[in-house]
Amino acid sequence: MGERRRLRAILRRCAGLVVAGGLAGLTACAGPNLWTDWTSVSTGHSNGGRLRHPAKMPTKGEGFEVPKRWAERGNLYGVDELLDAVQRAAVQVRGADETVKLGIADVSPLRGGRSRWHRSHQSGRDIDLIFYSVDEEGASLDPPTLEMIHYDGEGEAYEPKKVTYEEEGWDARRFDEARNWRLMEALLGDPTIRLQWVFVSEALKERLLSYATENERPTWAIEYAKVVLRQPADAPPHDDHFHVRIYCSRADRFHGCVDRGPVWHHEKKTYKYGGAERYDPVRWRMAVATPVLAGLH
Ligand SMILES: [Zn+2]
Repeated sequence: MGERRRLRAILRRCAGLVVAGGLAGLTACAGPNLWTDWTSVSTGHSNGGRLRHPAKMPTKGEGFEVPKRWAERGNLYGVDELLDAVQRAAVQVRGADETVKLGIADVSPLRGGRSRWHRSHQSGRDIDLIFYSVDEEGASLDPPTLEMIHYDGEGEAYEPKKVTYEEEGWDARRFDEARNWRLMEALLGDPTIRLQWVFVSEALKERLLSYATENERPTWAIEYAKVVLRQPADAPPHDDHFHVRIYCSRADRFHGCVDRGPVWHHEKKTYKYGGAERYDPVRWRMAVATPVLAGLH
């Protein structure tokens, strides 16, 4: 059925329900892919889902860019709370050093769904972030433009078997523990999203945790990172980027967004029992419209 005919059918059905059932009828027309609250809506699973009214990641902004290769692919769409949070984190990590840039790779296609690059990334709740890197003297480097660079347990760039990089100067790159940790801390501490997973290799996870412990970073962040950072068992080890996945917002769960896998202990209360929903699109918009937070948005 064409999109417009489908929409007309839905509207007819909804109108009938509202006439018959008043307010109860109105809620009955909400459902997966049928009705929205006019913010972005993620439906289904991250590996079998769709995306409605998505936000689009700009290809450039304060403290970040989408390098050429990923800008050309155009998988730049996601739920608005995720894209906003990543942009805020990039500003936070950059601090006063305007040369620092986070490289953002794939989010989801315009309407979500399958793509030839990913099994997941289907419902706007997954995003690939390229590791921050420094040179041998510790100076910050721009994100690579052509391909992601792999790092070993020592934080040094390497070419995996059968891979030859086109990226010039790749072997001078080092994994930037300080900024990569700060990025994790910014995302874990953002009140508008709840991280389910950050896929990253076991060796780099260890490096990040030792950095955090040695530098006396907050215990809550270290404890969250221990459970959320994970080398996936059924996918490449992720030693060339972070793959971040967030839980469905409560508003999107109402519209058919489905989480799979664990709900971490530190998220259980807000996830299950109500309490303060950490992301409420309406309240969050009102909050960021106030002068105090306006600079953050
Ligand atoms: Zn990914």
